[in-house]
Amino acid sequence: MGEPDLTRGLELFDQRRFFDAHEALEDLWREAVGPERRFLQGLIQVAVGLHHYSTGNIAGARSLVKRGEAKLAEYPEVFLGLDVHELRQAIHTWLAAVERGQPPSPLPRLARKSGTMPALVTRSTTAQESARAAVEQVPLLDLTRQYAHIRTEVMAAIERVCSSQHFILGEEVRSLERELASYCAASSAVGCASGTDALWLMLLAAGVEPGDEVITTPFSFFASTSAILRAGARPVYADIDPRTLNLDPEAVEQRIQRQPSAKLKCVLIVHLYGQCANMDQFLRLGTQYKLTVLEDAAQAIGAGWRGRRAGSLGAAAAFSFYPTKNLGAYGDAGCVTTVDPGVAEQVRLLRHHGSRERYFHEALGWNSRLDALQAAILRVKLKHLEKWNAERRQRAATYDRLFQEAGLGMPGAAPGESPSHPVALPYTQPEAHHVFHQYVIRAKRRDELRAYLAKRGVGTEIYYPLPLHLQKCLTYLGHGDGNFPEAERAAKEVLALPMFPELTEAEQAYVVDTIADFFS
Ligand SMILES: *Cc1c(COP(=O)(O)O)cnc(C)c1O
Repeated sequence: MGEPDLTRGLELFDQRRFFDAHEALEDLWREAVGPERRFLQGLIQVAVGLHHYSTGNIAGARSLVKRGEAKLAEYPEVFLGLDVHELRQAIHTWLAAVERGQPPSPLPRLARKSGTMPALVTRSTTAQESARAAVEQVPLLDLTRQYAHIRTEVMAAIERVCSSQHFILGEEVRSLERELASYCAASSAVGCASGTDALWLMLLAAGVEPGDEVITTPFSFFASTSAILRAGARPVYADIDPRTLNLDPEAVEQRIQRQPSAKLKCVLIVHLYGQCANMDQFLRLGTQYKLTVLEDAAQAIGAGWRGRRAGSLGAAAAFSFYPTKNLGAYGDAGCVTTVDPGVAEQVRLLRHHGSRERYFHEALGWNSRLDALQAAILRVKLKHLEKWNAERRQRAATYDRLFQEAGLGMPGAAPGESPSHPVALPYTQPEAHHVFHQYVIRAKRRDELRAYLAKRGVGTEIYYPLPLHLQKCLTYLGHGDGNFPEAERAAKEVLALPMFPELTEAEQAYVVDTIADFFS
């Protein structure tokens, strides 16, 4: 410990490799104590701030560099062999330029003032303990960490597309479509402009017509329902399973038996938060009641059911590559996967103005093409997806363990099964391979807890605060409070915690500790 690591961190800093510099400095800081520890924390904040600046996150950059500056202000002009005075002045000038919206000049090299440097004083706490104590905030999602790891690959892909000057559909999109179909074990994938478009075009291609009914969940993102309405059909709701928060097949069957309807053509299931709905039951219902089973797999790329992948479980599936999804583009993008060549052909036609031959239109389609830049970026990221999904699953297991250790929740218990615990942890069906797009707890006094976490720097979100059947623009469907009580109860209790592959255990411990403080 000591000198070698600081040298490494400073070298990386001088090479403007700020993300790597922060990692090297952090290794050192874990072992440091007292004033040196705080000094290193200041340097790390400056490094991370400069990293944010390089990725275009100006607000994040400004706030972190300022916090680093405040810490460094407490130190003498020379500390740990560094010219702190010069560094402070340079930070001041840098911040002033950023505040004025001008491009700042780079910071000076962290020149060593004295040839030798004192060894750092370290103590014998575990690295884990000190990392835990140092966390001050945990974002719900931080995409810049992922970008720092794949930047070179992404830039090369963008360069490839720009050199080709071929931006719409083309070879990049065809290659991505082959790779996605293979990943999902579907026979085809067809790229679209967004997940919402993919849902809509999938419904049209599956033969949904004006006046038809599609049975679906009231507890999802709005697009699951709006796509049905855009296709001219009517969404019919059934309540959710309180354990998985996915559409409940028993509720679907009860609804079909209570109100049989010749117009009911499809069931659109949503694999919420990254966990597949109960496919055994939905495939049975599909056969028994002659319903086409369609998947909204926007949150579930890589998820599985009995060893089969989302995207090839029903007749067709829609995926979203919205930037925050498990596989996210750098803009809007989506696709339809299917095991039915007729459906693939139809989506291909509809996404391109219903035209096979230019200026001849055989169907009323739309422009919903995927562009080559997004496809090229998605091809880079698809190669990492298995690893990232595995890391999400591992983070979910860590949350489970930390909650159990803190006495807050019981892994595997259904809501209401362990009433002595203030938190219900996510429930995973044994047949499901959950990819944890979100890690969602159900909590007592949820809104108070959320405000408490926000004050302590923990980002959370509520997916979703108002079930679809109660949305203002859908009141004409005639639903009201109490129609789908499980969906309504979930909307009042769910809370999504920070979840992404690069989340550290120290950050997770901070989240759980803070929740423990709230309930103590
Ligand atoms: C994200 C999402 C969509 C919509 O995808 P976009 O690409 O944003 O249009 C649809 N359904 C669900 C469940 C989603 O999470």
